[in-house]
Amino acid sequence: MNLSDRDRAVNWHPYTQMKTADPIIPIVKGHGLYLFDDTGKQYIDAVSSWWVTLHGHAHPYIAQRVSEQLHTLEQVIFAGFTHEPAVQLSENLLKLLPKNQEKVFYSDNGSTAVEVALKMCIQFAFNEGKEKTKILAFKNAYHGDTFGAMSVSGRSAWTQPFGEMLFDVVFIDPPTPENLDELKSIICKHPNEWACFIYEPLVQGAAGMLMHHPEDLSELMRFCRANDILMIQDEVFTGFGRTGKVFAADHLQEQPDIMCFSKGLTGGTMPMGITTASRRIFEAFLSEDNYKTLFHGHSFTANPLACTAALASMEILMREETLAAIEVICKKHQSFSEHLMRHPKVEKVRQTGTILAWEIKNDNRTSYFNEIGKVVYRKFIKRGIIIRPLGNVLYLVPPYCITREELDIVYRNITEVLDELEASQ
Ligand SMILES: *Cc1c(COP(=O)(O)O)cnc(C)c1O
Repeated sequence: MNLSDRDRAVNWHPYTQMKTADPIIPIVKGHGLYLFDDTGKQYIDAVSSWWVTLHGHAHPYIAQRVSEQLHTLEQVIFAGFTHEPAVQLSENLLKLLPKNQEKVFYSDNGSTAVEVALKMCIQFAFNEGKEKTKILAFKNAYHGDTFGAMSVSGRSAWTQPFGEMLFDVVFIDPPTPENLDELKSIICKHPNEWACFIYEPLVQGAAGMLMHHPEDLSELMRFCRANDILMIQDEVFTGFGRTGKVFAADHLQEQPDIMCFSKGLTGGTMPMGITTASRRIFEAFLSEDNYKTLFHGHSFTANPLACTAALASMEILMREETLAAIEVICKKHQSFSEHLMRHPKVEKVRQTGTILAWEIKNDNRTSYFNEIGKVVYRKFIKRGIIIRPLGNVLYLVPPYCITREELDIVYRNITEVLDELEASQ
């Protein structure tokens, strides 16, 4: 049996209808921008393997650092003990975050980083003896797949079976200059009842790369601050260079109370989540009263290997050449988006930094249109490019190691696929 068949016999894949799924592609090797399957075919990873791979696959520097760490200290219980990689990573990360972020709490992935943030806010109110349980979030938000994270995410087919069991959340539209007054009035309807406001800053990733402007979000944040509503900024996707700056926070004029990180945190090499908090949040948990403790943790909290991978990845990220490479991607995306806008099959082209998204125009061929994502995905796979549409939204989120020439290859293939769609009408 080949690897695909053996896989099918034993594995259950994420976000996959196993009955109708296309054959699963066995990947045997990764190198920089490329993944290689068991027939030797190479694929350009234009989506950074679900938005995590920052510097390319099997990066030798990260591999070397993790390997050294593996021979030194692979894991230690993080209650009652600490280690150099965790302390160093917290120090390095906090230096890059908004000034008010002072404490780092480790977990294992983006969803857990969000769970921790929500628990911090809800218990913050509890510890202060206040009745604040309402949560504010954006429509179509995506904050993860665990129950708390699902609760603050938009309701969809993904959450439907669990509807009754998710906690109540007030969903508002992302801010625009036109709707800001309306959003404020919704918030004002429940004064002093908000436990927190959670949001993906600038780009709502899984919703289909929906984007809003930093000025509008800053204005909404300013209003939340004035009304004493705690803010959780979920930078699981936007962090570590994706938006063209190191964090989405670098585009904003207001500081959140809590921030969440994962995905690019370790350069896409190891699972890890981080929740950071301001001094005010942290101090609300300091007490002689044991009930005010944050009773949360995971077996692998602050795993030294993952911390080391994150340290190495952040070191590469902050190198001048990497920041310059990010700049190149931003600029090239910008000129390609002008080209895209003129294509008859394309609408709603949008870009934030290294994230470029657009939609395939619906020409009223509805049943076919529902399948358009799959059709397009297969076309790109055939061409050796991994582009995984969200419905009819296509997007690029390339690793920062992609060269100008490789970007041009991707752009050229996109144009050809769009032309094929146009011709097939
Ligand atoms: C992916 C994502 C998450 C969930 O992270 P996982 O590691 O997949 O659990 C949370 N928030 C945002 C904004 C994300 O994009």
